[in-house]
Amino acid sequence: MDNAFDVVVIGGGIAGASIGALLAAGRSVAVLEREAHVGVHSTGRSAALFSEIYGNAAVRLLSRGSRDFLFSPPQGFTDVPLVHPRGVMWLARADQVERLREYAALPDVNVATRWLTAGEVRSICPIVRKDYVSAGLLEPAACDLDVSAIHHGYIKLLAARGGRLYTQSGVTGLVFEDGIWRVECGDEIFSAPVIVNAAGAWADEIAALAGQPPIGLQPMRRTAVLIEAPEDPPSRDWPLVVDTDEQFYFKPDAGLLLISPADETPSPPCDAQPEELDIAIAVSRIELATTLQIQRVRSRWAGLRSFAPDRTPVVGFGDAKRSFFWMAGQGGYGIQIAPALARLAASLIEKGVPPDDLVDLGLQLDQLTPQRLHPAPTPAVQP
Ligand SMILES: Cc1cc2nc3c(=O)[nH]c(=O)nc-3n(C[C@H](O)[C@H](O)[C@H](O)COP(=O)(O)OP(=O)(O)OC[C@H]3O[C@@H](n4cnc5c(N)ncnc54)[C@H](O)[C@@H]3O)c2cc1C
Repeated sequence: MDNAFDVVVIGGGIAGASIGALLAAGRSVAVLEREAHVGVHSTGRSAALFSEIYGNAAVRLLSRGSRDFLFSPPQGFTDVPLVHPRGVMWLARADQVERLREYAALPDVNVATRWLTAGEVRSICPIVRKDYVSAGLLEPAACDLDVSAIHHGYIKLLAARGGRLYTQSGVTGLVFEDGIWRVECGDEIFSAPVIVNAAGAWADEIAALAGQPPIGLQPMRRTAVLIEAPEDPPSRDWPLVVDTDEQFYFKPDAGLLLISPADETPSPPCDAQPEELDIAIAVSRIELATTLQIQRVRSRWAGLRSFAPDRTPVVGFGDAKRSFFWMAGQGGYGIQIAPALARLAASLIEKGVPPDDLVDLGLQLDQLTPQRLHPAPTPAVQP
């Protein structure tokens, strides 16, 4: 059959593109994407930040494991830098200082950050109100990511290795028979002994098609808005500024300011759209914390950040036959952890074990596998 592959990857976002490219080094791979273009959903809607102190411990480890790739990509992967200096500055009001101190005390956060007085916060970002801020925490090495260059770097690598990307190929049916998946995209049929579920917000829907137990994935809508940046003081070199309780953030973006209420509104998997109320919340929180007077919104969008119940990505075979592989639940970190997550996934598929360097960083596989989210079968009641 023409459409027979070693692996079929479902989803052409950053997750599907990265695992597809890595597996294509030694196997025939098809990546199936429902939309006409890749990057239409979460991957094309992110805030494009790399921060090694963001997320829970497992996420922070995967970010550290991605650093080398993003900062020194392999020869030929890209013609442009994948990262640009930015920095992240966490803001604390008086009532938040204790929480920020606890966070700053985590060993891996501590080594990557510097505590700031209110005066230091305002010398870095002068629009922060004097009567609002009590302290701050700066992560100087955080960076902006060139998401398009990363995503298309993986797509190019997939093609260079003989892998195939099929757009307008939405998976509508999955049947496992005699050790082979029959992957239905309308009238077109693909087949492979292994499928990778990299369908983003739709990953539990793909599991349902395949007759696999769900992981309880919850897509959450997040809103982003571009506004005019003030001319004075100049904003170009400000870090991303984020509230201790992640109630808002803002950062310079190509001459404008990207602002967000950092909303997490549960949503079904869909083409997420921004709501006026969330934009108003972003404006009001940021006007409270800064001297910005936001008159006009230049553009707006929303996207889905999809989380497993423990907010840790889900990577691994879901079935004993090692035919249905999960790569889902990347939450708000899917771009920055993509290089490590793809290496982990490829190593698990090819060798059954994680890469040594991630183990050396402290990776605990049982925190990432889908089995942690599947309830153990109830023991049969003895008569
Ligand atoms: C506002 C916002 C800000 C963010 N900021 C950051 C950030 O600063 N840093 C960071 O690292 N991350 C950030 N993220 C998170 C990041 O964007 C996601 O974690 C990441 O893009 C997830 O990638 P993915 O490939 O899993 O999902 P997606 O990009 O959504 O890709 C999944 C693909 O699967 C396809 N698909 C679904 N069902 C099917 C089917 N049946 N058949 C075929 N194809 C199918 C979809 O069309 C989609 O293209 C942010 C997200 C948002 C929304």
